[in-house]
Amino acid sequence: MDPSVLARPGDGVLAKVIARVSDPAAFASLQRQGEQCGWCSHPIRLIGNSVSVDTSTGEILRSYSTNDEPDGVLMKACGTRRATRCPSCASLYASDARMLVRSGLSGGKGVPKSVLQHPMVFATFTAPSFGAVHGARGTKFCRAGTNQQPCAHGRLVTCPLHHRADDPVLGHPICPDCYDYERSVLWNATCPELWRRTTIYVRRELARLCEMNVKELDHSMRLSFAKVAEFQRRGVVHLHAILRVDPRDEGDVPHIIDASLLTSAIRAAASKVSAPLPRGFSGASLASARWGRQLDVRVINAREVDCDASVSDESRRSSRAVANYVAKYSTKSTDDLGVLDRRLTSLDDLDARNVSAHFRRLVTTAWRLGALSHLTRLRTWAHSLGFGGHWLTKSRRYSVTFKSLRTERQAWQVQRQHGTAPNERSINIGVWKWIGAGWRDKGDAWLAQQGQREKMQSRAEAREARCLERRHDVDHWHERPRHFLDFEVVEA
Ligand SMILES: [Zn+2]
Ligand SMILES: [Zn+2]
Ligand SMILES: [Zn+2]
Repeated sequence: MDPSVLARPGDGVLAKVIARVSDPAAFASLQRQGEQCGWCSHPIRLIGNSVSVDTSTGEILRSYSTNDEPDGVLMKACGTRRATRCPSCASLYASDARMLVRSGLSGGKGVPKSVLQHPMVFATFTAPSFGAVHGARGTKFCRAGTNQQPCAHGRLVTCPLHHRADDPVLGHPICPDCYDYERSVLWNATCPELWRRTTIYVRRELARLCEMNVKELDHSMRLSFAKVAEFQRRGVVHLHAILRVDPRDEGDVPHIIDASLLTSAIRAAASKVSAPLPRGFSGASLASARWGRQLDVRVINAREVDCDASVSDESRRSSRAVANYVAKYSTKSTDDLGVLDRRLTSLDDLDARNVSAHFRRLVTTAWRLGALSHLTRLRTWAHSLGFGGHWLTKSRRYSVTFKSLRTERQAWQVQRQHGTAPNERSINIGVWKWIGAGWRDKGDAWLAQQGQREKMQSRAEAREARCLERRHDVDHWHERPRHFLDFEVVEA
C-alpha cells in the first residue's frame, strides 16, 4: 500500500489515519497484518501460540507466538463467501470454487484428465410460479395479457412496459395480495430435498432409458454433480448444476449413455420428481414442491468414442465458462445489496435494513411460519427467504474439496515463510484466545479497505496476464460469461 496515493477518508477517520501513516513503524506493522489476513474487511483478532511437532521423532519443527506479531495480535481472515461482507475473502472463495468446479470438468488437482471424456451437462432448474411478477422480456411487453379481468383485489394482471434490466421493479409481483408468499418460502425450504430426490430420479430415468434396473446401472456408473444456488429477483432459488456420468471401478458406463441420453433423463426426472411441502398456515401440506417449467440443459462434453481423441476447443471454452459462472454465483447473497447477508435476531432488525417491500414480505412470512413448532428453523433461514441449504455443494467424487484446496494453500504459505513444506508426519498444537473482530479502529479499517482494493486489482491483473500467456480469451469471470451460457432465466 502506497500512502502517497490514498484517497481522502471521512472526517472522523482522518486523524486516526494520519497518526498511523505518519509513524513508519506503526504503518509497517499494519502493512504486515494486512498482508497476513489478505486485507480482510472483518478479520478476527487472536492471541496465542502454536508448535509444529514431528510425530515420529517428537522434534519441534516450528514454534510460533503472537508476541512476535505487530501489536502482539494475529489477524485471521473472516473467510466469508459473501462478496457483500468481505470482497477479499469472497474473491478467494470464488477462486477455490472455480478451481473445484473446473477440476471436475477438465481434470487437475488430482482429478484425472479422462473426465473430459465423460458425458456431462450443465442444467438450470427453476422454481414454479407463485404469482405474476414484472419481468424483462427482451422486445416483448412485461405482461401484455389479453385477460382484462381484474384480480380479487381489483388489479389488472397486465403491465404495458418494457422494463430495463436494472429496473428495481423486476421480480416484484403485479398484485402482492395475490402472490403466494407462504408457498414461495416453503418451496425454498424444500428445495434441498427436491434436489436430493432429483439425483435419485435421474439415475432411475437413466436406467429406464438403458432398459436396466437401477441396481445394475449403479454397478457400472456413478452420477457426480456440483451445484450452486442462486436467488432470482422474485426471491426464489434456482439451481445451476453440472451433472457428470462416471464409470465405477469395476465397470464401464453402458455405451448408450452419452450427453444427450443424460439430457433426456434429466428432463424426464425434473418433470416427475416432487418433494412434500411442510404444512404452513394455509394447509400447504397437501401440495408438494416441484420444479418449474423452465429447465435449461446444455451439453458440456459430448462423449468421444476414442478416448485418445483430442478435446475440442469448444469443449474447453464451455468448461471454462461454466466454472466461471458457478464461481461468480457462489459468492452472492440473497439480495444484490447484501442487506440480507446475515441472520435476523427479530423482525425489528429488518427495519434497520433497506429491504424492498417484496423481500420484506418474504422475510416476514418466513419469520411468522417459524412460530410453528415444526418450522422453527425458518427463523434461522428468514434472511435467506426460507432457503437453508448450502450455496455450493458437490457429490463426494465430483472433484477436490474446499478443505483440500485450503490445506494446499496453507502448505504453500508455510513453505514460503519457513522454506520447508509441512510434512505428513507433523501436527500443529496451539492455544488461541479470541480477543475481538474487525480492525482496531476506523482509521485502520479505512487503510485496510485501500489495501484490499490494491490487492484485488493486482490479483485481477495477474489473472489477465496468465490468460494472455496461455493464449486464451481473458476470463472476465466477475462478469456474466456471454459465450456458451448465453441464456436468461425468465421470471415466472
Ligand atoms: Zn474477510
Ligand atoms: Zn411490468
Ligand atoms: Zn390480487
